[in-house]
Amino acid sequence: MEKIVNGYLQFKESGFEERKDLFEKLSNSQSPEVLFITCSDSRIDPNLITQTEPGDLFVIRNAGNIVPPHTRESDGIAASIEFAVVALGVKHIVVCGHSNCGAMKGALNTSGLTALPKVKGWLNYCSEAVTIVQSRERNLASDELDSVTQENVLLQIRRLEQYPEISKRMTTGSIEIHGWVYEIGEGTIKCFNQEKQGFIEL
Ligand code: ZN
Repeated sequence: MEKIVNGYLQFKESGFEERKDLFEKLSNSQSPEVLFITCSDSRIDPNLITQTEPGDLFVIRNAGNIVPPHTRESDGIAASIEFAVVALGVKHIVVCGHSNCGAMKGALNTSGLTALPKVKGWLNYCSEAVTIVQSRERNLASDELDSVTQENVLLQIRRLEQYPEISKRMTTGSIEIHGWVYEIGEGTIKCFNQEKQGFIEL
């Protein structure tokens, strides 16, 4: 805790001062171009890996960078998506999975989640990705994790496409969705390529 309090004091003294104009501009409004959906994992820093500033990314984070299916009920994720798309008018949505994801490991081994019933329930939203991977390959466990991570990004994109406010804007080309996987140990990002039907380095 001491680390973050000292960090704040340092921010107030130098970080804020350096960006005073930016923060003044942002004090009354925001107009981010990108909705960035990623995992809660502490090793991911959306602004650092995209070298962006406050105000650039509207961020939704949860275990496994999941987008629950669209329903008529309200939930925090659907509300945040609606706000980003309709109120802020973001032009791009990035779904960013990552290497060594605990949520993906959990989705691959739900029997190990007895002490984490909420996690287990939440990861039901990934089960389709696990089924797809396990039905098509018999690989080493490490490859399986990578494959599920990629397949999960694609699954969550398909869910986004079912949100009416997004599908409407996709038909007019006013919004684009991108699938990314961030490799923590290498600092690289692979992006889903529609033409090649695979993830290639950005
Ligand atoms: Zn993760």
